Amino acid sequence: MYKIVLKRGKEESLQRFHPWVFSGAIARIEGEPEEGEVVDVYTSQGEFIAKGHWQIGSIAVRVLSFHADEAIDAAFWQRRLTTAYAMRQHIGIAARNDNNTYRLVHGEGDNLPGLVIDIYARTAVMQAHSAGMHLVRMEIAEALKKVMNGAIDNIYYKSETTLPFKADLYPENGFLQGGSTDNVATEYGLQFHIDWLKGQKTGFFVDQRENRSLLERYAKGRSVLNMFCYTGGFSVYAMRGGAKLVHSVDSSAKAIDLTNKNIALNFPGDERHEAFAEDAFKYLDRMGDQYDLIILDPPAFAKHRDALRNALQGYRKLNVKAFEKIKPGGILFTFSCSQAVSKENFRTAVFTAAAMTGRSVRILHQLTQPADHPVNIYHPEGEYLKGLVLYVE
Ligand code: SAH
Repeated sequence: MYKIVLKRGKEESLQRFHPWVFSGAIARIEGEPEEGEVVDVYTSQGEFIAKGHWQIGSIAVRVLSFHADEAIDAAFWQRRLTTAYAMRQHIGIAARNDNNTYRLVHGEGDNLPGLVIDIYARTAVMQAHSAGMHLVRMEIAEALKKVMNGAIDNIYYKSETTLPFKADLYPENGFLQGGSTDNVATEYGLQFHIDWLKGQKTGFFVDQRENRSLLERYAKGRSVLNMFCYTGGFSVYAMRGGAKLVHSVDSSAKAIDLTNKNIALNFPGDERHEAFAEDAFKYLDRMGDQYDLIILDPPAFAKHRDALRNALQGYRKLNVKAFEKIKPGGILFTFSCSQAVSKENFRTAVFTAAAMTGRSVRILHQLTQPADHPVNIYHPEGEYLKGLVLYVE
């Protein structure tokens, strides 16, 4: 067994069950672990404190267990997946008739750092974010099949873009179990084509489900602009909510195709909807002031801490444009999914934007990620999605 010995005092965060060991906390390594192997972590006093997946990089160990005698084997994966599945059933998001789209495993939030599993009808899409999870993908797939006990037929592995590229892992996307081209899943009674082959993330932004549902309640009679629409999630809910018209915008032509397909799937021939493949800033500049419900759900502007300043400027500029054009009495749903941007930072950017336009703005709701994307209480970094619903006078 490989042994990682920490510098003096560096065990503190692990004592509080934080699931990461940073490379700077390590005094020495006994043995030569390969990336992705399981290592034991010891304090400078020589006491066992945790075990987890080893990786080269700033996060050196992702903790799987705080118990010395807990083996990381097939039974371990089965236990963790069982817990995750039971939680989704207990909170009423799994196993319902009107919804078969949900996140089954949310990394650290489910004590499985480096692993994401989303369920789309009878297909699970599994994504590894660490070398360790990549190496045990077959074992996890086996465990998943057992735990889901007939509820899924297919497991698609999609990690070509989420693994550290320097680690020589050569991941290939593809089915680990089954194989199906039927890619329609249901979210709160609405149908969506999920593009797990080519789409972003696991194919769909499952994390906006509750926020889309909230938007539906505000849509009646409104003229809606869904900016950064991707698969058109917010647009489809706005249509069901009785919007007068819905315009979806995304710079990616493929996203616009998907949006049109999803609208057609739920509201065939409905002329209230139109989609535009165009840059957000250009569209916001040229559009008129017809919208009274605007959604801004941009990609993560800051992928890293260093990019924070530019990201905040980006959020400010984007929101300024929406505040300038939204109709009096309009409602703005504005989001940030950058983990590096805190709730406070995001708020400040949006407040500054409001102040710059001189509009009177009230906060109606403060939004976050849904319950199937839980935050491990010992890992506050797991909270990443921030949203504000604003009433603009
Ligand atoms: N709201 C979506 C998710 C948005 S993901 C949902 O609920 O599913 C972010 C989207 O922004 C991506 O589809 C990406 O193609 C698009 N995008 C990125 N940069 C853009 C730009 N400058 N203008 C318009 N769209 C952009």
